[in-house]
Amino acid sequence: MTESIEIRACVLRAPGAVATETVTLHAPGPGQVRVRLAAAGVCHSDLHLADGLLGEGRWPAVIGHEGAGVVDGVGDGVAELAPGDHVVLTMVVPCGSCDACRRGNRTLCEPSGANALAGALADGSTRLTGSGGEPLQHGFGVACFAEAAVVDARAAIPIPAELPLSQAALLGCGVLTGYGAVDHAARVGIGDRVCVIGCGGVGLQAVAAAELAGAAQIIAVDLRADKLDHARRRGATDAVLSSGDDPAAEVRELSGGGVDAALEVVGASATIRLAWDTLRPGGTAVVVGLAPAGVDVALPAIEFLSEKRIIGSYYGSADPALSLRRLVDLASAGRLALEDMVSHRIELEQVPEAFERLRRGEGDRSLIVIDPALAGDGAAQLAGATPAAGHRTPDQVEERT
Ligand SMILES: [Zn+2]
Ligand SMILES: [Zn+2]
Repeated sequence: MTESIEIRACVLRAPGAVATETVTLHAPGPGQVRVRLAAAGVCHSDLHLADGLLGEGRWPAVIGHEGAGVVDGVGDGVAELAPGDHVVLTMVVPCGSCDACRRGNRTLCEPSGANALAGALADGSTRLTGSGGEPLQHGFGVACFAEAAVVDARAAIPIPAELPLSQAALLGCGVLTGYGAVDHAARVGIGDRVCVIGCGGVGLQAVAAAELAGAAQIIAVDLRADKLDHARRRGATDAVLSSGDDPAAEVRELSGGGVDAALEVVGASATIRLAWDTLRPGGTAVVVGLAPAGVDVALPAIEFLSEKRIIGSYYGSADPALSLRRLVDLASAGRLALEDMVSHRIELEQVPEAFERLRRGEGDRSLIVIDPALAGDGAAQLAGATPAAGHRTPDQVEERT
């Protein structure tokens, strides 16, 4: 296919300056596909990018990295996808041959990370230009807050057409992050005692993943009682308000001496320390939350004698394509309550409002219903609607993933 198309897209022009524009999307090049987007989730990383917190030089760009849609064009040499295929997008496309990939750290693939940073596709190109003819970056290499996107074919993971695209979109970052942190980073197993700190959209996925993994005890920790109630409905066995006198002591008491794994899904110094303090000797704290640059954490060094561990987790800590296929299977079997993590369904023009909610720490995921007919799952009726039932209001233990 050779033709370019005009699309509406959410463009970042300068820190804090995000608006919907009409831009040109060029035809997919070799090894690339064009995807008509059905829905996209607004992630905290998009806000960080839009606020300029992820560094200079990352605009102008079409933003958005958590999305799903339908392939409507393929470039030369693409054999594995065809027009009509339903796909979920991934922002990490491991090359398979860099040192990180060879070590098995596929989410840390060096060229994939460099391309995401540069807002380019795998061949270093951009397929987007603005109205003045200027090149636009692909935010995180994806650029899915748009009616269509050109991505590397390997960034488009096929999914069954029966899975509503409004649900599939969420798999691409938030769900992958929450499940992967439990499965691949914390390696939660049958009978484990687990603590999840921060029960927003991704934290709830971590709770649900811990239940699926067979955890005997799942202690949810949050500043808000309503979020704790929500966590209980998703499988938490116990709940602790982090505003209490000594939440770490409460968790240790509830778990009979500390948890095997603590997942921090906030990205703040105090909650990372809290995760450490809830551990039993030999337990593992996993930091999933994305802390702003400059945040430090202090730990009592003598406690390394007790062989506690603290590790990071990025984007599920495993091969994203493989993880997504497993999540698609679980979602198709009805074993992931994906709709639970959506608090607002919005239109493309409402991304700035979704960012405002994130800045206030309000709600869970905002889902952009880009094409209601494609998105399916009742999204058409709800597109543009204000908060879904049971949405949550501002809180301080906000999520940054
Ligand atoms: Zn994300
Ligand atoms: Zn690599």
